[in-house]
Amino acid sequence: MTRSTEPVLEPLRGCPTYETIDDWLRLTTTRAHEQADTLTALDQAIGDGDFGASLERGSAAVLAVIDAGPPDGEGGEAAAQRLRQAGRALISNVGGASGPLYGTALLRAAEAIRSAGPGASGAAHVVGALQAAAEGIAKLGGASTGEKTMLDALVPAAEAARVALKDGEDAVGVAAAAADAADEGALQTIPMLATKGRASYLGERSIGHQDPGATFAALALRALADTLAR
Ligand code: ADP
Ligand code: MG
Repeated sequence: MTRSTEPVLEPLRGCPTYETIDDWLRLTTTRAHEQADTLTALDQAIGDGDFGASLERGSAAVLAVIDAGPPDGEGGEAAAQRLRQAGRALISNVGGASGPLYGTALLRAAEAIRSAGPGASGAAHVVGALQAAAEGIAKLGGASTGEKTMLDALVPAAEAARVALKDGEDAVGVAAAAADAADEGALQTIPMLATKGRASYLGERSIGHQDPGATFAALALRALADTLAR
């Protein structure tokens, strides 16, 4: 009689390490700093112009979390814990709509990583995290696609990631597909009429400007793709 094989004892095996999460967070903060003026200008056109300042505050809070030392747990647990710490830092330090929305996205991504099956690949973790992040934002913001928000970058990104996974792409390919779709999605916000958030107060005058929240979401996903490709 052959003995049954041992159960898989490596939960979150394919998950990115917390060091990879930290590299992604650092690269995102660096690029956010480089683009802060541009993002502020986008928010000046259809909002209150605080977007760049909010990003700088959020970046400082996230970098402080990283500087405070490694998260608890091992492997994927530590990665999820780091995402949770960063999400909480955004929620409690960034005023404006975007802090709680992006923060919730990170909290939901952490939950997705923790609840993924034991044999989940890196690519499956990226897909699960992106889908959970988009759903979390949609629920908190009461928004859906076509309303000129960050969801117009994130929802197509999650969908492109899902398709790439199905086509057999690895984590790098999945993240690149997500970043490409997010770039395209952010561009597509230009002709949209804003129906959520401060930009909706402008009515028709919101048309013709790219949404800052979607633009930053695309920046963060490009940073993820570049980090995983290294
Ligand atoms: P505000 O200054 O209006 O409080 P921020 O400048 O921090 O907000 O963020 C603005 C971005 O937040 C927008 O570009 C949009 O992408 C996003 N946003 C605003 N409201 C919502 C919502 N209800 N659901 C999803 N995203 C939203
Ligand atoms: Mg604003």
